[in-house]
Amino acid sequence: MASYDAVVVGTGIIGSFASLHLADAGLKLLVVDRNGLAAGTSRASDGNLLISDKSPDGPMGLLFDMTLDSFKHWDAMIAALGNHCEYDRKGATLATLDPKQAGALRKQVESHTALGVHAEVLKPGDFHRVEPALHPQVAAVGWWPDDRQVQPMLACYQIARHLRARGVDYRFYDELLGIEPGAGGVSLRFAAAPDVSCEWLVICAGVWTPHLLKPLGISLPILPRKGQICVLERSTLVVKTKIADFAYNALVEEIDPDDPRPHTAAIVEGTQSGTILCGSSRQFVGLDQAVDMEVLKLIMRDCVKLVPGLADLRAIRGYAGLRPCTPDGLPAIGPIDDRDRIYVATGHEGTGHGLAAATGAMIAALLTGKPSPFALGCDPRRFSK
Ligand SMILES: Cc1cc2nc3c(=O)[nH]c(=O)nc-3n(C[C@H](O)[C@H](O)[C@H](O)COP(=O)(O)OP(=O)(O)OC[C@H]3O[C@@H](n4cnc5c(N)ncnc54)[C@H](O)[C@@H]3O)c2cc1C
Repeated sequence: MASYDAVVVGTGIIGSFASLHLADAGLKLLVVDRNGLAAGTSRASDGNLLISDKSPDGPMGLLFDMTLDSFKHWDAMIAALGNHCEYDRKGATLATLDPKQAGALRKQVESHTALGVHAEVLKPGDFHRVEPALHPQVAAVGWWPDDRQVQPMLACYQIARHLRARGVDYRFYDELLGIEPGAGGVSLRFAAAPDVSCEWLVICAGVWTPHLLKPLGISLPILPRKGQICVLERSTLVVKTKIADFAYNALVEEIDPDDPRPHTAAIVEGTQSGTILCGSSRQFVGLDQAVDMEVLKLIMRDCVKLVPGLADLRAIRGYAGLRPCTPDGLPAIGPIDDRDRIYVATGHEGTGHGLAAATGAMIAALLTGKPSPFALGCDPRRFSK
C-alpha cells in the first residue's frame, strides 16, 4: 500500500493552500478530489479578499486578525510562484445610500485605522474619483485601498501546477469512500485507485466534509449557505473597486439555518476579462445548487440601486455555490478525532478565499507541532464540547 505523510482531500481554495504549505513543510503528500480541480464552491464564487467587511471586535475579531495574516501569506504565494491568478490590490468601497448608516460606516473605518489598516471615509468630492460607478446620491463611502481580488480557480490551478512540478501526487475523479484511523496512522479506501495509508488525513471538502466524518461517528455542523452571482456582459462601464453595500456585513452575520428565504445585499466586482459579477444572496436550502432566476432578479435590484449603470447591461449567465457555514460564523480548522490523526479545514463561509492562505499556514503549523494564534478559536471540537 502506498504511504504518505499526509493526504489532503479537496482541491478547492482551502485544500490548495493546505497542500502548498504542507509541501513547503517537507511532507510527502497525496492530494485527491472526487471531481476535477476546484470543482466545488471555489468554482462558484466571487474572488474578494477583504478586510473591509471584518469587525475587529468580539469573537468575530478572529476573522479580522486571520485575514490580515492571510494577506501576508497570499502576498508570499504570489511572490514565490508569480501572479497567474489575476491577484490585484484594487481596493474596496463600502457605500450606503442611507444617511442614517453614515455614522456606523465611519465607526467601522475608525476601528480599522486604529489597528493600522489603511481605510478612509471619503469626502463627497472624492466619491467618484475613487469609484466612478457609484450612484451620484450615495450618502457615505468608506475606502479600503489594500483590499484585493483574485480569480480563485486560477489560484487553485497555479498551486496545483506548481506542486505537480515538484512531484506531489494528485488523484482526480476518485472519491474517498472509507477512513480507518489506527494507532500508526490512517488507512484510506477510494472508489477507483488502490488504498493508501498516511500519518494524517486533512479534509478540506467544504460543505461535503460532514459526509466523510459521519461514518466515524463524528459530527461537524457545516451548514451549506447558498449564494448566487449574476454575470453581466463586457462593457465600457468602469468598476474600479470592489463595491459593497454597507448593509452586506449585517447580512453575513445573521445566521438562521431554519430560515429558507433568500436574503440579498449588493456586491459588485469588475473582472479582468471585462465582465461584471453582481452578488449576492444567502439562503439555507440544503445542498440545492440550482440557479433561481427570482433570486438573481433580487440581486440585480439591489446592485442597480448602488451602481445605476448596471441597468444598461445584459446578464449573460448566473451561478450558485454553497458556502460552508458554521453556527458561530468561525471556521473549523484542526484535529477532530481522538488520536489527532484527522484534521479538518472548512467552515469559512463567504470568506474562504480571503482566509485560505492563513488556513494553509495554520494546518502546516499544527501538523508539524508549531503553535498557531488561531488554533483555539477555530478548534473544530468546540462543537462537540
Ligand atoms: C456566491 C458566492 C460568493 C463568494 N464570494 C467570496 C468572496 O468574494 N471571497 C471569499 O473569500 N469567499 C467567497 N465565497 C466563499 C468561498 O467560495 C468558499 O468559502 C470557498 O470556496 C470554500 O472553499 P473550500 O476549499 O473549503 O471548498 P470547495 O471549494 O467546495 O472544495 C471542496 C472540494 O472537496 C471535494 N470533495 C468533496 N467530497 C469529497 C470526497 N468524498 N472525496 C474527494 N473529494 C471530495 C470537492 O469536489 C471540492 O473540489 C463565496 C461563495 C459563494 C457561494
